[in-house]
Amino acid sequence: KPTKERQRLPVVPLGIERDEFMKALKELGEQLGEEHVEINDKPLVDGWYMEHPNTHDMMTILDEEELVASAVVYPSSTEEVQAIVLWANKYRVPIFPISMGRNLGYGGAAPRVRGSVTIDLGRRMSAILDINPEDYTCLLEPGVSFYALYEALQARGYSHMWIDTPDLGGGSVVGNTVDRGVGYTPYGDHWAAHSGLEVVLPTGEVIRTGMGALPGNNTWQTFPYGFGPYSDGIFSQSNFGIVTKMGMTLMPNPGGYESFMYTFPHEADLAPLIDIIRPLRIGNILENVAQLRHVTQAIAALGQPRSDFFPGGDDDGGALSDDVVHAAATKHLAVGDHTWAYYGMSYGPDHIRKHKLALVDAEFRKIPGAKKVDPATLPADDYYFARDRIAAGIPDIHELRWVNWTPNGAHVAFSPVSPIRGTDATALFKLGKDTHDKYGIDFFPAFCVGLREMHLIVEIVFDRADPERRKAAMDCLREMVDKAARLGYGEYRTHLVLMDQVAGTYSWGGGAIMKFNERIKDALDPNGILAPGRCGIWPERYRGRGWEM
Ligand code: ADP
Repeated sequence: KPTKERQRLPVVPLGIERDEFMKALKELGEQLGEEHVEINDKPLVDGWYMEHPNTHDMMTILDEEELVASAVVYPSSTEEVQAIVLWANKYRVPIFPISMGRNLGYGGAAPRVRGSVTIDLGRRMSAILDINPEDYTCLLEPGVSFYALYEALQARGYSHMWIDTPDLGGGSVVGNTVDRGVGYTPYGDHWAAHSGLEVVLPTGEVIRTGMGALPGNNTWQTFPYGFGPYSDGIFSQSNFGIVTKMGMTLMPNPGGYESFMYTFPHEADLAPLIDIIRPLRIGNILENVAQLRHVTQAIAALGQPRSDFFPGGDDDGGALSDDVVHAAATKHLAVGDHTWAYYGMSYGPDHIRKHKLALVDAEFRKIPGAKKVDPATLPADDYYFARDRIAAGIPDIHELRWVNWTPNGAHVAFSPVSPIRGTDATALFKLGKDTHDKYGIDFFPAFCVGLREMHLIVEIVFDRADPERRKAAMDCLREMVDKAARLGYGEYRTHLVLMDQVAGTYSWGGGAIMKFNERIKDALDPNGILAPGRCGIWPERYRGRGWEM
């Protein structure tokens, strides 16, 4: 690691001389205002979630200097984004747009290509352009966080509308949505809930998608498709454009809500429980993204270091044994020595909730030993209450607590998708557990049930200052991705450093989908300047030159 105090020599993107690059930056400064072009020559400071850096990944899994920006620029308008894109084409400089850069666990603010110029859209483009209280929609710039949107609804007295928030509420609504992030109300599929984009293309043109293409329309945020091919899809998890505005639908206040939590005693309850959840979820009796969490993760959510849980602080460096986990759970948690905790929420007025909750109760109690937890018995800072807020669309950051698990805690996710079936849950659980055990890593699985599929979200928490633990986390991840792919499971989203590998697992038809993506990339971005390599899509200029990892 470089010493933090020294001035750093800024990284220069490959293919341009240092002097020419500095001159080019100066030229860009003349267009944007020189204070809006920052060369990255300061020490790399990690900060924390709410004061995160925009120059690199604060939770890096490689050496921090690997995926680092050469400079950060701050446009204030779509026109300035266009100007930056034209400038990047002129000098063949890779640019990497972020909305707020709080994409923790997936690369944070880091660019995929070292020395890219990061476009921090969120700093100066953070307006809520519209909130429509009749249509239940809004129109946002990239710098609007879930907190900011929530607060704007409160401030305007719009209690009839809810937002949906992911586990951590400090990120950008636009950034999270274009990366197809999820939340926990019935509007949790953010991509499905958006309507209409404004996009700056890699050659500098601007388009509006859906009804936005019709001048004078009043349906951009209410009808997502417009006429002709539905183009929005190619701007999610890609590097085909820079989103400068996005429409989002808002959920009607359901007129009441009630969280509930059940625990189940044995690891082997997983399969029958998932089979019980499936018809309830598809039939919308379980109405939000259902979360089934393993007790180890509940222990980590206490926010204490793992060393606290070893008798006599005797951390042997390996993964926590089942005995230690259950002893800790019995001592510290309402789940006691149970293994699984289910967090859900029922929406609507009392009489409607009653009916649904009775159905859930009857089904869940088919698992011997199932227990419904009474929230009144829980301490005020119990994780249950964070789940309660999030399922009611109230932003929160409780989830961050488990990075205290190791010194210099960072996290990175493995998130394969499967049908909601007991056999799939068991196969993925075993795959994750065995691989974690092999690398001496504690296993934090949570099954998040969408509507007809579930994501297994496994967060590996590691000491980012320890190269050996970083490597163990990487090796474990890489092995899980390959093993999962061999069983037919793919990731729904991934970290920058795993994008090539994950894209490579989507290989049907001799890699037909990547060939298609590359053809779009080359047509839209002939100079290959926009976020090269993101999601495994390399422009022609980079292909076959050893950039993949
Ligand atoms: P958040 O603030 O929610 O954490 P980020 O700004 O980190 O989200 O966005 C996650 C990723 O999505 C970024 O690294 C970037 O690759 C992509 N992205 C975010 N915002 C945009 C945008 N406005 N246009 C194009 N791509 C974007």
